[in-house]
Amino acid sequence: MPYAPQIGDPITALDTPSMLVDLPLMESNIAKLTAQLLPTGICIRPHLKTTKSAVLAAKLVAAGARSGCVAKLSEAEVLCAKGFTDLLITCEIVGAPKVARLVELFRKHRSLRIVVDSEEGAGAIDEALARSAIEEPIMTLIDLDVGLHRTGVQPGEPALKLARFVRGLGHLRLMGVQGYEGHLQHLHGREERRRMCLEAMATLTQTADALRRDGHDIEVVTTGGTGTAEFCVTVPGVTEVQPGSFLFMDTDYRNAVGSFYSNSLTILATVISKQGPKSVTIDAGLKSLTTDSGLAECKTVGYTYGVLGDEHGSLSWTDGPDLKVGDRVEMIPSHIDPTINLHDFYYAHRNGIIEEIWPVDARGKVQ
Ligand code: PLP
Ligand code: MN
Repeated sequence: MPYAPQIGDPITALDTPSMLVDLPLMESNIAKLTAQLLPTGICIRPHLKTTKSAVLAAKLVAAGARSGCVAKLSEAEVLCAKGFTDLLITCEIVGAPKVARLVELFRKHRSLRIVVDSEEGAGAIDEALARSAIEEPIMTLIDLDVGLHRTGVQPGEPALKLARFVRGLGHLRLMGVQGYEGHLQHLHGREERRRMCLEAMATLTQTADALRRDGHDIEVVTTGGTGTAEFCVTVPGVTEVQPGSFLFMDTDYRNAVGSFYSNSLTILATVISKQGPKSVTIDAGLKSLTTDSGLAECKTVGYTYGVLGDEHGSLSWTDGPDLKVGDRVEMIPSHIDPTINLHDFYYAHRNGIIEEIWPVDARGKVQ
């Protein structure tokens, strides 16, 4: 029989490495987020760059989310093809090939939203739309730098100047501001994170007000991630938050923000070699678990992970039961988004029985 995991199979039937989702833990993460944020009246627009999955996007909408964000145009192409509308693309769309793809996607999906942070970027999109004969303008947000220094126009005069420029374009309709405080998400210490988040939110909401005074119709003020959303929603003027990682978490987030949300995703691996009395090799290396945010952790405490290259990792221990060839372990990723992008499927289980299998639809979609 060809290898084909089925719903109803035990996870012990899975080959490794495999990406597992503990459904009760994931469901409780969704319930915690919605219980904390929805009563504030805020719009939850989860960032789908984490899951890259239409099924998970639909589950979040069913729980009260308003569509979602994607990072990249190619992720939007995938999710639009799966029936999602009203997506916000949170990265700037720059360069002729990408602008041409945007026009084609917008031709079919008029509810798309984009961000701009330069006159060059906004102007090129406007020109391409003018050539396309699409009459409707594309919903556009000014991307504001609130301290991350990654993208975004500077607050104050530069933001006003860009907004005036966008107003002069026939094919873009300015409808909001995005200001993502990514530099604060993993800040250890809740009080410090809150204080710095409120400072960033002051920059964001003051800019939104300045734009309104300048005659712009700013309906959407969008921001926030897993580490800050709870603070963003307390700020009058913020209309929308974009958390993504909360669904699964990772060790980096757990170390920073604590265990309000649970680590609900693991990479199942097999011990394939014994290398010493207290050391084994598992079949999960750099191609299964990313290392940019530190090393993954074994879910069973006491075993320390090390990278042994593309395909291999080590687990070593001082006390506790010995691991032997053929044993299975679950590894908790250190950074969830790029780890998911390494896998084809999620195997979602309840108490060890596979209940759902979801493709990582936008895997590899980085354009
Ligand atoms: N918004 C933007 C613009 C992002 O780039 C990200 C993640 O990098 C998020 C929201 C979601 O953040 P998190 O996954 O930390 O919740
Ligand atoms: Mn991330």
